[in-house]
Amino acid sequence: MGFKILLRGIVQGVGFRPFIYNLALKNGLKGYVENSSDGVEIFVDGETSAEGFLDEILSNLPPLAYVIDYSVEEDVTLDEHIERFYIKKSRQTAGITFVSPDTAICSDCKEELFDEKHHKYMYPFINCTNCGPRYSIMENIPYDRSNTSMKYFKMCSVCQSEYDEPENRRFHAQPNACNVCGPKVYFKDLSGKKLIEIARKYLNDGKIIGVKGIGGYHIMCDAMRHEAVSRLRDFKSRKFKPFALMIKDKNTLMKYNINLSLEEEKLFESKIAPIIIKEIDDNRFFHINPLGKNIGIMKAYTPLHLLLFDGFKGDFLIATSGNIKDEPIAIDEKTAEERLSVCELFLHNDREIVNRVDDSLVRFVNEKPYMLRRSRGYAPLPVVIRNRLQKEIVGLGAHLKSSICFVKNDYAFISQYIGDLENYEAQNFYEEVYERMKRLFRLNPAVAITDLHPDFFSTKFAKRLKIPTFEVQHHIAHMYANMAENSLTDNVIGIVFDGTGLGDDGKIWGGEVFVVKEGKTKREIHLEYTPLIGGESAIKNPYRMFLSYIVHFGIDNAEIDEKYLKEYELIKKVIKNNVNIVETSSMGRFFEAIGAYLLGIEQNEFEAHSAIALEGLCVDGYDESYEAHILDGEIKVKKIVENIISDFKNGEDIGKITTKFHNTVADLIFRSAIKMKEKYNINRVSLSGGVFQNIFLLRKTVNLFKKNGFEVFLHKNVPSNDGCISLGQVYFYILNNR
Ligand SMILES: [Zn+2]
Ligand SMILES: [Zn+2]
Repeated sequence: MGFKILLRGIVQGVGFRPFIYNLALKNGLKGYVENSSDGVEIFVDGETSAEGFLDEILSNLPPLAYVIDYSVEEDVTLDEHIERFYIKKSRQTAGITFVSPDTAICSDCKEELFDEKHHKYMYPFINCTNCGPRYSIMENIPYDRSNTSMKYFKMCSVCQSEYDEPENRRFHAQPNACNVCGPKVYFKDLSGKKLIEIARKYLNDGKIIGVKGIGGYHIMCDAMRHEAVSRLRDFKSRKFKPFALMIKDKNTLMKYNINLSLEEEKLFESKIAPIIIKEIDDNRFFHINPLGKNIGIMKAYTPLHLLLFDGFKGDFLIATSGNIKDEPIAIDEKTAEERLSVCELFLHNDREIVNRVDDSLVRFVNEKPYMLRRSRGYAPLPVVIRNRLQKEIVGLGAHLKSSICFVKNDYAFISQYIGDLENYEAQNFYEEVYERMKRLFRLNPAVAITDLHPDFFSTKFAKRLKIPTFEVQHHIAHMYANMAENSLTDNVIGIVFDGTGLGDDGKIWGGEVFVVKEGKTKREIHLEYTPLIGGESAIKNPYRMFLSYIVHFGIDNAEIDEKYLKEYELIKKVIKNNVNIVETSSMGRFFEAIGAYLLGIEQNEFEAHSAIALEGLCVDGYDESYEAHILDGEIKVKKIVENIISDFKNGEDIGKITTKFHNTVADLIFRSAIKMKEKYNINRVSLSGGVFQNIFLLRKTVNLFKKNGFEVFLHKNVPSNDGCISLGQVYFYILNNR
């Protein structure tokens, strides 16, 4: 008798079986390890639990391994008699090929980078079998040099011998290269070390430079040079949106008293090396995030970054995406020089970026990672879902923050973050990602799942594929994305508080409570409808939305600022005449309207700007909330708005009003769920939608549920915003088309 562990993911060809073998010997275990169709199977004989061994495996994985999923079977009895631990001969199986994400520089390469005696000393693209670019340079599978953009570089004899020698850390390291034979940095007539020196001097002088990285260009400058940062803000038309900071290593964090939790530190130091959002209460960073205390931090994750830090006098570099508003990040020299005119110098290089990947963005909630943007380091690893379909399908995602999700067997291959499909460049990128993933994973979808909205680029794209299509409502897709990640199939209450998406009644939804019971998805409660004056342009004009609320609900205690009077009168007229008014139940718009009123924000600089500003003012430990009602399936708005207005007019502290408002929404979520529990006897709640990127609200809500015996499910691998839609689309199809 013993236990079986099945690990799936990138666990073949990465030294996994010897690793398990050694671990087993160390623990004096008997059994075997063998490759299976999509992973590795381990059997351990004896009266012992799998837990300890599994923990040891997962926390000591070989550098290149990625475990996507695992299962454990206890009390397994085998026929064969086992006397020792051994590696079973491989069964040749036709499994799925996984593609490794791009990986941050490893500690060995880091050391060699600064080792004068090493032949890769100061080489900005040093890498090995354990680190370096992967997905971003891959054109096709199998993962051979000839299928990557490294094919243009012939290895020198030193590199070649590393590559050929099984004992070497660079044995079959496809991007292996050095100063002699590999890609080089260049700009005009400058190149190599000389150029990097100049670039560093530029940074020290408060200048702005463009740096080609793993998945695209970054725009960089010394983050503590206010003049440079404000120039960058002007260029990006970004007065308020926070920037992410890059640091050399975690010593900088200590210097600034920024404490990462254990889990945060693990991810920060990992090969994924995403941007981690931290709450930092330090005025020195006000210019980095004028809207609150949340600051994104990532480590220098490529050798080139480390070379830039070597001799850099500051502590923080801004490393922001090299793009202009709404366009994908630049990946080639020409685009970079054309578009990133703010940069006074570029570090180009001749290693072509095949797949564009942005930096990923993660925040921790209750010590668990909560994805905000899933890209470099994660893509194109799949998420494991329950699937009984025989055919392959594809979810084409949303219009904003779009992604594409292919499903084959139990794997949902979710693309990197693509962005808003508002312009030609972004749409081009979308098509590229579709074609590339299809080829990389040998996929051939039989059905394309789209949004209800007929005018979306993705919906039109689906038509061109000439395969059957299937539509899923935007917020239902949100709920199902959450269910997919949490292996839920039925008996779920879904709270989807979001921006906007077309509903099946032709109205614009976004404050929705659904129930999935006996396979049926029902919309049970929603935020009261309000006219959405100007349609989608309301996203940019949160104050207009506020006016819309007060006119529509006859709220008359607000004092309208003189500069809005004209618009106020106009909205009155429009609503009175009721011509072509689209109505919305969007919770995102409601938050923004309140933010606009309390903070006087007329124009949103970016989506949810005024809502984020509002969150930034919330205070902990204040529990009061506003009177609010849920009647006949509607969350009533009028009372809440009236009370906020009167608090505001009475000179109540803005932080308190804001917190009270957040508490009210958390309370409404909770009470909606109670109603559903009474009606359906369900106590599982899944939370999705862009509004749940508001961490203050999320924490309040989760606590309320936990205190009252609900099981609450959050997103993990995909963001709660529209980046999750493609996954939700396919999962809805799977559960509703058996
Ligand atoms: Zn390495
Ligand atoms: Zn070489």
